[in-house]
Amino acid sequence: MALKTGEQYLASLDSLNISSHILGRPVDQLAGHGLVAPSRRAVAYTYDAAHDPACRELFRVVSPLCGQEVNRFTHLHACAQDLVNKVKMQRHCGAATGCCFQRCVGLDAANAVFSTTFECDQRHGTPYHARFRDYWAWVQQEDLVVDGAMTDPKGDRGKRPSAQADPDLFLRVKERRDGGVVISGAKLHQTGMLNSHEILVMPTMTMRPGEEAWAICCAVPVNAPGVRYIYGRQASDTRKLEADTLDVGNPVFGGQEVMTVFEDVFVPAERVFLDGEVDFSGVLVERFASYHRQSYGGCKVGVGDVLIGATALMAAMNGVEKAGHIREKLIEMNHLNETLYACGLACSHEGQATAAGNFQVNLLLANVCKLNVTRLPYEIARLATDIAGGLLGTLPSAADLNDPATRPYLLKYLAANPAFTVIDRVKVLRLIENLTAGAGAVGYLIESMHGAGPPAAQRIMIERQAGMEGKMAAAKRLLAIA
Ligand SMILES: Cc1cc2nc3c(=O)[nH]c(=O)nc-3n(C[C@H](O)[C@H](O)[C@H](O)COP(=O)(O)OP(=O)(O)OC[C@H]3O[C@@H](n4cnc5c(N)ncnc54)[C@H](O)[C@@H]3O)c2cc1C
Ligand code: SF4
Repeated sequence: MALKTGEQYLASLDSLNISSHILGRPVDQLAGHGLVAPSRRAVAYTYDAAHDPACRELFRVVSPLCGQEVNRFTHLHACAQDLVNKVKMQRHCGAATGCCFQRCVGLDAANAVFSTTFECDQRHGTPYHARFRDYWAWVQQEDLVVDGAMTDPKGDRGKRPSAQADPDLFLRVKERRDGGVVISGAKLHQTGMLNSHEILVMPTMTMRPGEEAWAICCAVPVNAPGVRYIYGRQASDTRKLEADTLDVGNPVFGGQEVMTVFEDVFVPAERVFLDGEVDFSGVLVERFASYHRQSYGGCKVGVGDVLIGATALMAAMNGVEKAGHIREKLIEMNHLNETLYACGLACSHEGQATAAGNFQVNLLLANVCKLNVTRLPYEIARLATDIAGGLLGTLPSAADLNDPATRPYLLKYLAANPAFTVIDRVKVLRLIENLTAGAGAVGYLIESMHGAGPPAAQRIMIERQAGMEGKMAAAKRLLAIA
């Protein structure tokens, strides 16, 4: 099948007829909902880009799995250059949308499941890899969006799954039936879930012997019976419901996160890719997390490009663009942003083939990338806040700009560099606000901290991967210590 356009993707999404609870109400018509629409447009961009002559080459690749040209958002990386191209594509999308475009989580999950199932079959004689190959070839040919569902609610963090007051606090196999399993539990923070066709469920952490019920990886259609959605709030989200889009900041695109409940959902065996093999639960988590930590070296950098651009515009609008400290701060913002990109590229260039044949990022460098992401966007946001000025937090509303009683005062007192209109200055301020303190900060800041795991998780991986023995040996060699 030919690669879908954005319009065809949206039509395919609507044919699934899913509903969600949003702000306390059941909503059947997601397409027309003001909170959902920007996030749908952001995913649709990943489809349209594959048809745009300016960038289609980056978004298209021939898949060794299905033998056809596919959208790179469904590709199993066949070489290190594929990993590099993925990061470039993500930076491109981040800069084009200024938000989380949601389609990478499933891509990262698929690459992790592909290599993990291969190795699990080798050790245990399980049938998962062939099943997953068939499943993913179908995803590629249909050009689908897949939600990567890893994060369980986890209840009391000090207790293992079986010691929780409620066993569903970690998603589990509750029952076995002829031809499949019944799963029960929830996945929190699911990026782009309502804009997906499929859910790829993975264990949330390394499971131990005795925790087989929680070591489950499987695929579930988004409209499977028993799956429920409760929409996540974002700061200032209801501005998206206002008639004038000026106060939204990003008037076209936005991200989306959803709480997803699995109430006794039946999964047929051909969609199960790990079921009780606890020794591979940690491998899967580690690989998925590392791919997603690489991803941030692309997407957050693209969004950073937008924030840096908006901040430079703000400086010019305020008439301070030539001041030495402003130029220094803009240099610093670029330095920080390109540092993240360098990490994303480095862990890709150093990627290696897995036993299954796809390419895995360098685990150490991917974790260094993400640990930097937990810090540098915050520093970039701090510098943007500095340059933007206090209006970032005190600007009157679009409604006041539209009100004849207040409009003249706003036009008079918000005027700055005469080369720019007041309305344009307000637009730029609102975009900076969106990314540093509004709905966009969910993706640019909070997700930078917690998405793909909190900083402590990256530190553990860095400690494991740092090769300390080799470093001590180097020091000893130099000093002739035996
Ligand atoms: C915007 C956004 C989008 C996301 N998208 C997705 C998605 O698409 N798919 C998905 O699966 N997940 C997604 N996530 C989830 C993300 O991976 C988790 O938020 C992250 O792993 C942290 O888990 P948590 O939120 O439960 O926080 P917690 O695990 O509660 O962490 C909070 C703090 O407690 C510490 N902590 C936790 N447990 C322990 C412990 N046992 N001992 C000591 N310290 C501990 C952590 O280190 C951290 O400092 C998303 C998150 C965000 C914010
Ligand atoms: S946070 Fe970045 S990598 Fe993750 S889905 Fe959104 S855009 Fe993709």
